[in-house]
This record gives sequence, structure tokens and C-alpha cells, in this order.
Amino acid sequence: MAIPIDRSTNPRLDAEAVASFKLTNVSSDHLYIAEYAHKEWRKERIGPYRPLQLTPLTLGLHYAQQVFEGMKAYKMLDGRISVFRTAKHAQRFNTSLRRMAMPEVPPEMFANAVHTLVDLDRDWVPSGPDSSYYIRPFVIATEERIGLKPSDEFMFLVGGGPFRPVYSKPLRVRVERMYTRASKGGTGYAKCGGNYAAAMLPTILANEAGYDQVLWTDAEKHELIEESGTMNVMFFINGVLTTAPLGDTILDGITRDSVITLAKEWGIPVDERSVSVAELQDRIADGSLTEAFGVGTAASVAPIATVGIDGNDYQLDVHPECAMFRFKRELTGIRDGSIPDRHNWLTIIDGFVQ
Ligand SMILES: *Cc1c(COP(=O)(O)O)cnc(C)c1O
Repeated sequence: MAIPIDRSTNPRLDAEAVASFKLTNVSSDHLYIAEYAHKEWRKERIGPYRPLQLTPLTLGLHYAQQVFEGMKAYKMLDGRISVFRTAKHAQRFNTSLRRMAMPEVPPEMFANAVHTLVDLDRDWVPSGPDSSYYIRPFVIATEERIGLKPSDEFMFLVGGGPFRPVYSKPLRVRVERMYTRASKGGTGYAKCGGNYAAAMLPTILANEAGYDQVLWTDAEKHELIEESGTMNVMFFINGVLTTAPLGDTILDGITRDSVITLAKEWGIPVDERSVSVAELQDRIADGSLTEAFGVGTAASVAPIATVGIDGNDYQLDVHPECAMFRFKRELTGIRDGSIPDRHNWLTIIDGFVQ
């Protein structure tokens, strides 16, 4: 069903600014909103981007009943616009929503909201290498109440804006031996705001020590590598693409899944297993670990040049022939249409606005 649209009468679009990234971290002209009450989603609409009105007793503001997604639209070389792996993002959104005791969003409703918004704000999708339109679907608990309870009312919103990559230089990461991002039975596999809030202090401390990101380890012994900052982390060990197996402490990254799919397709051996800090240290030292990199929607592939372990820095040689860049080139090529979309990962954005 078509979503009712109230078009902005004051479009802020400045094509030149979009192209030159001056608007990074600025929303495009429109925002999608739906409301949940009496056990159903209703009042779907798209309107001009604007501040929300919420009461100070909005449950989500106190108890962090909140879930989000991060995905992207790309300008293809032929001028069309594609959105990457909507169905998989919709599925993960619902996994996160279930964990936070929130109502699921039907996948068709999620897809329609995302695709209609991108279609309407298509002129905000920048072209050029590594640029994209970042899409932020999220649900917040909106019931007005001071006592703790799971909310009965929610808002589902989708916004977005032009985006350029966050990480440009190879990263310096530090193995975290004190704080944890996720624990068994916890919320680490859900994309919920609380996980990020808890990660801020350890990240600031790592920044102060001269590192870009934290390399998270298991909550029990701080011995097994889990993720890097807000990305999944991968290694090449003796030519084997190695990454932590999915579980309740690992976020099921869509870039992770895409890279593994490509590796298997290309005959690169893949091992989904935990790597310990001791193994990491030994294998960087003996040269069998040749590459370490983060994978996520924001940066696609982010090379790691330095791993800090208990006060010692271990260096990895990042050069253009590294295998990690083959994944990055392939993903870029699929998204810009120069490489065939053999896995049906793209939705071409056309005809969603009625
Ligand atoms: C979003 C996220 C990722 C990356 O997932 P993508 O779907 O590839 O963007 C990895 N780890 C954490 C903790 C995340 O929140």
C-alpha cells in the first residue's frame, strides 16, 4: 500500500553541498513515521523532516527500550539508485526488536518505508566513490509513564542523509582487557542504543591512549576476540578468512555475511571460530596472520594497521594488494552496478513514490 506523503514545502536541498559532503550528518528533506498502539502499527506517513514532540516521561528516554538499523543507498554509475540488502536488515531489525520486548515491524512494511523515503529524497543520494545515503530506521518506546514497564506504544521512524566514510586511515585498535561490550545472555546481538552507550567510555579511554577503536574481548576472561568498535572483525591467518562465530555476543553484521558469501564463492577458505588474544599476538609475530580488518556498513572494509596488546603495539602491513581490498572493490562494484548483482542484494529504487 502506498504511504501517504506530505511533501516538504521548504526543501533544503543544495545539490552542490550534497556532492561535496558539506551536509554529512544532516538529514534529507523527509522523515517516515508510523505509530504502534492497541497491538498494531498504524498512521504510516512521510512528512517534512522536523523535531519530534515527546513528553519527558517517554519510556524510551528513561529505560532505553530502543532499537535501530543502519543501511545504505548508493548512486549507481548509470544514475539509478540501489539499496543494499533490505530484506536482511529487516530480519535483523526484528531480531533486535524481539530481544528488547518490542513489537516486530513486518518486513514488507520496513522495506516499503525505506524504499519510499529513498525514492522521495533521491536527489540527496550523492555520487562518487565511497559516498552513499545513510538510512536510519529505528523504533522507540513512546508510552508516557514514570514507572518501569515494557511500553505498549511505539514509534517507528526512518530518516537518512548523505554520508561519507568514517575511517580513512588504517586503524590503531587496542585489545580491551577490562570493559565488555557484550556478555552471554545479554543484548550484544541486538542493535540497541544501550550497547553503544556502554561502549563510549572504554572507547574514549582507548582514544586517550592513542587508539582509534577498542578490540572487544569476551566478558568472562577477556581472552577471545569478538568485535572491533562497531564493526565485526576478520583476520587472514595462513590464507584462511577467520572471524568469530555468531552467538549472543556478536552482532550479525550484514557486511560480515556479504564478505563470507563472496569468500566462499571465490574459493577462499573461511573459518568461523574464536581467535584468542594469545593466538593473535603469536601469529602477528610469526607472520602467519597477514591481515586484520573491520567490516561494517559505515566503512565497508576498514584495515587495521596496529593492534595494541597489554601495552605493546603489533604492526600489520596494509598495502593495496591485501585480500581485504578485493572484498571492498567487489562490494563497491555490486553497489554501483559495474559488477553483476548475482546474489540479488540490491533493490533498484524506482516507482515507490506513487
Ligand atoms: C551494526 C554493527 C555491526 C556491523 O553490521 P553491518 O550490518 O555490517 O553494518 C557490527 N557490530 C556492531 C556491534 C554493530 O552494531
